[in-house]
Amino acid sequence: MKFFKKSRLLLVTGLAMLLSTCSRQEQPITSASTAATPVTSNSPSDNPSSLAVATTAGKPASRPDINGNHVLQYVKEVVALGSRPVGSPGHAKLEQYILAKLKGVDVEQDKFVAPTPVGKFAMNNIIAKFPGRKDGIIVVAGHYDTNYPLPKAYVGANDGGSSTALLLALADQFRGKERDGYSIWLVWTDGEEAFVKWTDSDSLYGTKHLAAKWQQDGTARKIQAFILVDMIGDADLDIQKETSSTPWLSDLVYQAATNLGYQSHFYAYSAGIEDDHLPFLKIGVPAVDIIDLDYGYNNVYHHTVQDTIDKLSPQSLAITGDVVLETIRLLDTR
Ligand SMILES: [Zn+2]
Repeated sequence: MKFFKKSRLLLVTGLAMLLSTCSRQEQPITSASTAATPVTSNSPSDNPSSLAVATTAGKPASRPDINGNHVLQYVKEVVALGSRPVGSPGHAKLEQYILAKLKGVDVEQDKFVAPTPVGKFAMNNIIAKFPGRKDGIIVVAGHYDTNYPLPKAYVGANDGGSSTALLLALADQFRGKERDGYSIWLVWTDGEEAFVKWTDSDSLYGTKHLAAKWQQDGTARKIQAFILVDMIGDADLDIQKETSSTPWLSDLVYQAATNLGYQSHFYAYSAGIEDDHLPFLKIGVPAVDIIDLDYGYNNVYHHTVQDTIDKLSPQSLAITGDVVLETIRLLDTR
């Protein structure tokens, strides 16, 4: 994904930190003129387990509890496959790994060939469907490819790994359970990353293809919300308020985070980020990007070989997973 515009949000604690660019080839944007005051914390004490989950429509809710170690284990297994750019052996292995984890689930593979600046490549969006009684679909998506131009030593634990793993953990939550709410479709998107340098045409291959397909076959009209997760494993979790996301859905995510006592990890500052939600926004699907594009000081680990498992924490993965589940619960009651 790529950072696209600066946005300052005045905080109680001072000026918000500004993001550095996502693109490896570009120089990092300097941080805000004042030293950024940390406004988030990943301290477990931010998560008082005694905090009651807010209820909606008078219904008591059970607190979601994604096991962060379980998600981190998935990240480790994904990272162990090596770098996973489109067309690589690691990518092929990961496709098989995801499909093996989804045994017994209704899976659709959206295979296609995309022209890129360095030739044509076969790509594959993997969609796992969990039916619900309510008419409509909630999509939770995240990319599984890693950046193409980077060296083989790059494993993308956070960028690529964390989203892949969280979706696998969500599949474990939904597998074999009857849903009263909307159907849930989990989508491992392919070709999110640029092949040469991020541009409108060299990026988001998988979601551009899928959005066009779903617009054509009528699926898009049934989608209540498209929830994107990306780079959500950073031990210092500070999810930005992504400014192109659909406002009411963005607010709902914050409501979900607040219900669970996790709000200190969310929306301390705003940023415009180009990511897999954009093709769906363009066709009128409400979409939100849950992303922490502030990975290491000045985003220094992003798109470097330093994006490794030791930078991640089970707490961050669990927090994001729980907030996604709570957001789904809120959507179900709307
Ligand atoms: Zn990336």
